[in-house]
Amino acid sequence: MLGTTKRCMECNRFRPVEEFMRRWDQPEGEEVTVCIICNVAKDIAADRAKERLSAQEPAKKACTKCKETKALTEFNRRAKADDGLQTWCRACTTEASRDYVKRRKAKENRSLGQKKRWERECAEGTVSGEAFLKALDTPDPVNSPDHYRTGGIECIDAMVQVFGDEAVRTYARINAFKYIWRHQYKGKPEEDLAKAAWYTRFANGDDPRKEVAK
Ligand SMILES: [Zn+2]
Ligand SMILES: [Zn+2]
Repeated sequence: MLGTTKRCMECNRFRPVEEFMRRWDQPEGEEVTVCIICNVAKDIAADRAKERLSAQEPAKKACTKCKETKALTEFNRRAKADDGLQTWCRACTTEASRDYVKRRKAKENRSLGQKKRWERECAEGTVSGEAFLKALDTPDPVNSPDHYRTGGIECIDAMVQVFGDEAVRTYARINAFKYIWRHQYKGKPEEDLAKAAWYTRFANGDDPRKEVAK
């Protein structure tokens, strides 16, 4: 009927029935409740939303190590981080840990080689004075006096042979001074003070090993 109007459910306006067009997905005969203008507006809005979605970049971030921008899935989780991810990408992390293991191994081999050399030189009595002092100043061997004992010769005895009694007693006095000096800072004050006492006695010609040997 000409001049008949109906209300659009979308914009709430009364419009001529001619302005109500069936949507493509509405079955024939079903009452059309949305005006053609609202229909078009809805389509445009839907298209825009789709465009926005596809325009959105997939989530990425830059690795602080290799500086490459990579997908978030390329980063391991780190609960404490603001974005919950590590700052280095997986590849960089893997490489770094491989490097670390390599460096550690190399370091271990170096100190093992050094130790072996000292032990051999101690046993042969061919050790140089410089190597002795170096060995004694290296934290690990100092904590493991067994390292100095090979073939029944203790380094300090070999030192006496190489440098003479006087020099080694002076060395012992200086070493005692060192252990007292550092005992508060190295995390094992008792052990360091015990060592200081040991070297003080040795410096005074009172070899503490005599008691142990009894
Ligand atoms: Zn409408
Ligand atoms: Zn990286």
